[in-house]
Amino acid sequence: MQKFFIECVRCGWREPYQKPRPACPECGGEWLDARYDYEAARLKWDAELSKRPFTMWRYRELLPLRDDANLITMGEGGTPLYPTTNLGMMLGRPHIYVKDERQGPTGSFKDRQASLAISAMKENGITEAVLASTGNVAISYSAYSAHAGIKLWAFLTSAVPAEKMREVALYGSEVVKVTGTYDQTKQVAAEFARHKGLHYDRGIRSIAVKESMKTLAFEIAEQLGQLLGPEDQDVPWRAPDWYIQSVSGGMGPVGVWKGFEELQLMGLVAHKPKLACVQVEGCAPMVHAFRAGLEEAEPVLSPQTLITTIATGRPGPAYPFLRRVILENGGTFEMVSDEEAFRAMHVMAKMDGISMEPAAAVAFAALFKMVSQGIVKPDDVVVVNCSGHTFPVEKFLLGDDWARSVEVAAEAEAAPLPREEGLLASLERLDRRVQRIAILEDNPEAVRLLRRVLQAHGEYQIDEAYDGQSGLEMVRQTPPDLILLDLMMPKMDGFEVLEALKADERLQDIPVIVVTARTLTSHERKRLGGHVHLLLQKGSFLSDDLLEDIVSVLE
Ligand SMILES: *Cc1c(COP(=O)(O)O)cnc(C)c1O
Ligand SMILES: [Zn+2]
Repeated sequence: MQKFFIECVRCGWREPYQKPRPACPECGGEWLDARYDYEAARLKWDAELSKRPFTMWRYRELLPLRDDANLITMGEGGTPLYPTTNLGMMLGRPHIYVKDERQGPTGSFKDRQASLAISAMKENGITEAVLASTGNVAISYSAYSAHAGIKLWAFLTSAVPAEKMREVALYGSEVVKVTGTYDQTKQVAAEFARHKGLHYDRGIRSIAVKESMKTLAFEIAEQLGQLLGPEDQDVPWRAPDWYIQSVSGGMGPVGVWKGFEELQLMGLVAHKPKLACVQVEGCAPMVHAFRAGLEEAEPVLSPQTLITTIATGRPGPAYPFLRRVILENGGTFEMVSDEEAFRAMHVMAKMDGISMEPAAAVAFAALFKMVSQGIVKPDDVVVVNCSGHTFPVEKFLLGDDWARSVEVAAEAEAAPLPREEGLLASLERLDRRVQRIAILEDNPEAVRLLRRVLQAHGEYQIDEAYDGQSGLEMVRQTPPDLILLDLMMPKMDGFEVLEALKADERLQDIPVIVVTARTLTSHERKRLGGHVHLLLQKGSFLSDDLLEDIVSVLE
């Protein structure tokens, strides 16, 4: 078990971490940070780090997950850092490095966030969650939640490119297209989650997001230390002079900043880099606010950009945080046009063979500007986050029915989302699940698998119990349309559950599918009797077979 603290940045309240909290219980502040035993971590890293695999979990001591058993990993992080050869020469800046986040499992740096956030969901017993996304978070969370057996509702603005939406659908998440801006999409998703009593991913307000992004800083410093040598003899690693990233909500740079602060505290780097936060002109609330000297950003109500992946019109608490960092430590908020981003995308592909999505190219377009304006000096060590790459997903794989739609009235943005009939009714319609399935099974791994098979199909409400007795109670309380029943369970085995069901008038007609780990004796088969519809052998069925059986039993 891993120990760490959470601390309120506003008032200093602190407690050993037990469960996620939405806000500080003392002052109501929403900015909570994780704190660790940095001295112990430094000792451990000095002794062990070089032997660990190069994924973001090599920095386990500083990641906020209690139990390794909940870790959902697909080798995220540990991406290469390499110098641009031709670009560096062209710009007369020899120390330009690309942090190649395209190489994450789903092709963007959101995989770091997904790995930690989905692991934390697992640790907190969450089996169904809702999020709003401009694309990549939904893709990444969908992949990781498939792995974890968590059902995901992904609310995307209708402007998100179809390839990205299809990838979300491919992983079996429910895709809800919201005709409106990203900020409206967030409101609709939060409302849906509240209405359904589901977990809502709070983005930057959740500790997992900041904490995962800081692994970018750890890796960059460790890699630069190896590539260029330590910056002075007392510290083994090296911080760059600049960290450049295209930003939307600003989670990346917020996390990266915390990462460098921790490294400095641990004596692993001697300084922190200047941050360059880059937005697109058609949606640059942070840049405008910074230039106008504002502490809070004015929202951009209707973003005008083709690069929807980073079109967050209403930056949350990240802006005041980053503003303070940049005022105190140097750095800049920059913006580039769509055209400049597309040109940079082309240049990077042609000059250095790096093909990226437009949202990532925004950062490179800003680098070009910063070089030509002399902001980046010839000897500066610059790291640009090459944040993502879109995968093509076969169009014909999904059929026509892979997304649902919600329309938000155009005027809804100015006022808070109206709780009018229309929206609630359309949210209600989103969840068409009428049928309820109870899983009675004592092996959590088997439950996870069954749940995942059902969730990916999308239409079922799932209840779970881990022994016969509580399963029977659950079924009595809310009779399901179908029961998936394991035979070998503690307290009350499957045979006894079946007998109890048979004896109860309200329950005797509920169909039962028995899932068993082994072949049954003829005596056991007789005991099951006519009540049971189907027998499935664990470990020897495919998800499609199970679904077919379930559908045919329910019809
Ligand atoms: C999410 C994302 C960004 C912006 O990240 P934030 O740090 O959350 O603002 C940039 N590029 C790509 C490819 C992204 O997926
Ligand atoms: Zn507080």
